[in-house]
Amino acid sequence: MDLCNIDDIRSVLGRHGFHFSKSLGQNFLTAAWVPEQIADSCGVDKDSCALEIGPGMGCLTQQLSRRAGRVCAIELDRKLFPVLRETLADCDNLTLVQGDVLQCDLAGICQEHFGDAPVYACANLPYYITTPAISALLDANVFRAITVMVQKEVAERICAAAGDPAYSAFSIYIDYHAKAEILFDVPRDCFIPQPKVDSAVVKLTPRSGPPVPVCNERLFFSLVKAAFGQRRKTLANALSPVLGGTLGKAGIVQLITDCGFDARVRGEKLSLADFAKLTELAQARTSEG
Ligand code: SAM
Repeated sequence: MDLCNIDDIRSVLGRHGFHFSKSLGQNFLTAAWVPEQIADSCGVDKDSCALEIGPGMGCLTQQLSRRAGRVCAIELDRKLFPVLRETLADCDNLTLVQGDVLQCDLAGICQEHFGDAPVYACANLPYYITTPAISALLDANVFRAITVMVQKEVAERICAAAGDPAYSAFSIYIDYHAKAEILFDVPRDCFIPQPKVDSAVVKLTPRSGPPVPVCNERLFFSLVKAAFGQRRKTLANALSPVLGGTLGKAGIVQLITDCGFDARVRGEKLSLADFAKLTELAQARTSEG
């Protein structure tokens, strides 16, 4: 059976009485080169293991199983388990786990199934949980690399640098934790049912520490969040809810210019290193008072 062939997909799913759920982000791949290329580029080999999120009817799982030592796939939809048991009957290095990626103890699952072997995470992520799922994978702090398919627009946001139109608080969050690259685009006609948007595959390689030292992580991310929460405002105005109480408007402007930035700069022009500098000075000045 070809797990990316539309006729085969329809026939298997029909036999099991399965219907796609839009609310679970169920858009299955129908282009065999996509799961092959994800499995080829994610980094897994026979000496390592793969954790997949959302196997669907198993096209990526099958490719991972052929390349990895062991594979564990976490699927939320119970109705897919009879399908997966049929489509992946030959994968003897695979364990299927029923669960929600956002509720699971991902590090615990990896330890239980893979011991101390290196693990690579892979997924064609459901659209409705892209950002929390990526955060959960990064927070688990156990993956050598995380290779995921996401909406193209989200992929651009993940990889954007300061000043790019797609630059956002999420770009900085990702850069803080990982090196990110877009591997390739996947057009919308590679899925059933066909989504309204194109996709792209991104690879995140977790860093051993942030790319520049950050003195106070909590303050850093609250400044980033405030700066992008009100991106039409100048940085000075956007930071007012976080720093206004202690520094006042004039103190915030002084802080910004003392960092070497224009008083009217917008947050979207600042790099991660710029926010780290801002955090350091803000920390010093707010703890002075
Ligand atoms: N991997 C398959 C493919 O590429 O054809 C299916 C990908 S489909 C975009 C997303 C899959 O994630 C679906 O099988 C869906 O049921 C599953 N899913 C949705 N929400 C989930 C969650 N919270 N935790 C785990 N799996 C989830």
